[in-house]
Amino acid sequence: MDTGQTVDGPTEKCGVVGVSFRDRDAARPLYYSLYALQHRGQESAGIVTHDGFQQHSHVGMGLVGDAFSEDDLDGLNGRTGIGHVRYPTAGSIDSSCAQPFSVSFKSGSLGLSHNGNLVNADEIRDELAGMGHAFTSDGDTEVIAHDLATNLLNEDLVRAVKHTMNRIHGSYSLAISHDDTVLGLRDPEGNRPLCIGKLEEGYMVASESAAIDTLDGELVRDVRPGELVVLSPEGFDSYQLVERENTAHCFFEHVYFARPDSVIDGNLVYEVRRELGRQLWAESGINTDVVMPVPDSGRAFASGYAEASEGVEFAEGLMKNRYVGRTFIMPTQDERERAVRLKLNPIKSTVEGKSVTLIDDSIVRGTTSNQLVSLLREAGATEVHLRIGSPPITAPCYMGINMATREELIAAGGPVEDVEEEIGADSLAYLSVDAIAEALGEDHDDLCLGCVTGEYPYEISGEETDRDVERPRTDDRELPADD
Ligand code: AMP
Repeated sequence: MDTGQTVDGPTEKCGVVGVSFRDRDAARPLYYSLYALQHRGQESAGIVTHDGFQQHSHVGMGLVGDAFSEDDLDGLNGRTGIGHVRYPTAGSIDSSCAQPFSVSFKSGSLGLSHNGNLVNADEIRDELAGMGHAFTSDGDTEVIAHDLATNLLNEDLVRAVKHTMNRIHGSYSLAISHDDTVLGLRDPEGNRPLCIGKLEEGYMVASESAAIDTLDGELVRDVRPGELVVLSPEGFDSYQLVERENTAHCFFEHVYFARPDSVIDGNLVYEVRRELGRQLWAESGINTDVVMPVPDSGRAFASGYAEASEGVEFAEGLMKNRYVGRTFIMPTQDERERAVRLKLNPIKSTVEGKSVTLIDDSIVRGTTSNQLVSLLREAGATEVHLRIGSPPITAPCYMGINMATREELIAAGGPVEDVEEEIGADSLAYLSVDAIAEALGEDHDDLCLGCVTGEYPYEISGEETDRDVERPRTDDRELPADD
């Protein structure tokens, strides 16, 4: 495994939320928001609230619906709070990493929900451990919590956050509670999404705007890269704590991870995916009898592709069993292959005797595509062409998406023709990096493209970087308090 060696701690690709209400309990709105963010993490779910006197916490394993009972929610008193859903990391399922991370210390109680991954957590952990801090997990969220708790002993909240920001390096979107104050914080490159919502009786931050919609709220705007927002029931204060010339927005949020009905950094994900589908047609369109998506993630791409083709019929050729979980996280290859068959079954009438273009958002290990090409052939397809809505994934993600190791990535080893042959498709084409940048309306320099270029916007040992990385000094405790 080469991913685990250079990344600090387990990768955390998750969903976070925080709310501040005037006269309303926070627990249920947080619970509904976590449902809206369930696609961002299925391993565990948790909520931390504060009632003005003390903090309450409940964290459970599994899906949101399984992690909380009515009694659990009734016990989460208070009008402010944060929530978290955690993404499964390959192999280990570890309750010590479930979040929000909560702790009580001299200057109050702290809760943290983190989406992202730090690249220097080990350094900071070692330093803090040397100062006597005891850690209960190997996750980087606890490192942020301890650093912040230490700073809060000597300075106000905003300065404490700024000093922690100066030390941590990597990607993070955080919902933080300090007693009954709720904060939202986005890393200086804005790698992971985070947005602000206005509700009838308060304000919220969430990984995706779909969570705001669920609470009948209104999307105010994205949290800016490097910005801290401090929520109150009446509004929010904004502090631009760090400014960088470029962002490093994760393009894969748009391609695969986020909900299509979410707006991220000003773009509605569904429309981005449709545009990527149109570009896929422009770059590598092929006239077949039908074009069909791999459900659900390929749907928007296939509809844009069909529209741009002005003639290739859009057809649903694969039926998804919605009760089967994600195949991606099955521990063995054999299980992953079996699970694809459990999950997707061809609709014979739309496939038999037809030439088919199959559209998916991405190919990682190649298991899904490989299985689906043979499934369609067995169902009578005369030709199966594969079109993919992202460039070949050739390198691991260090910023929080569980992408498999370099050795496992089917496109990492050689040219597209080799992948085509291995998968058994009549033809295979991926989308270009330029098309991604164009659809998002961003320069290459403002995107994190590490998994498709092998060059990262962060300094990661053993990997190339695609920019001048401004790495914070780990030891910045000497900075003046008003820095
Ligand atoms: P694979 O079968 O390993 O090639 O994985 C590709 C399939 O998994 C595609 O259908 C994607 O929609 C989906 N996928 C892509 N990236 C991820 C991810 N990080 N976690 C879970 N599923 C993913």
